[in-house]
Amino acid sequence: MSDLRELYQDVILEHSKAPRNYRQLATANHKAEGYNPLCGDHFTLYLDLKGDSIHDISFQGSGCAISKASASMMTQSVKGKTREEAGKLFEQFHKLVTGQANGNQADLGKLAVFSGVSQFPVRVKCATLAWHTLQAAMEGKQEPVSTE
Ligand code: ZN
Repeated sequence: MSDLRELYQDVILEHSKAPRNYRQLATANHKAEGYNPLCGDHFTLYLDLKGDSIHDISFQGSGCAISKASASMMTQSVKGKTREEAGKLFEQFHKLVTGQANGNQADLGKLAVFSGVSQFPVRVKCATLAWHTLQAAMEGKQEPVSTE
């Protein structure tokens, strides 16, 4: 795993050790479960949707540093945004971690620390798990999301 060290930038490490919005959400009206069998990442996402916007969001579960940090930073990034804005952000994030960034990633802010993930295709699923789970929660899907 030593080749992954360069991926573990300070921000990612810090978020994986002290994830933000890591709790159950009593006011949640949407919930989804995401699972990445390849790595063992497994999270539950709680969403409080008010109309079309993400009023509050939280998550719980376990996974590798990348998946946990990504979930933590995703919750921070989409809180207060509309579903459409969150969807667009995911689109940009997905391009970033799959190496298709086209210089149009200004909105990503500090999520840009995940750009190194594009060098490690197997880690893309770790980085995008929380986002896929967010989409499922917004769409009200009942079955757990799997990256496989
Ligand atoms: Zn993982």
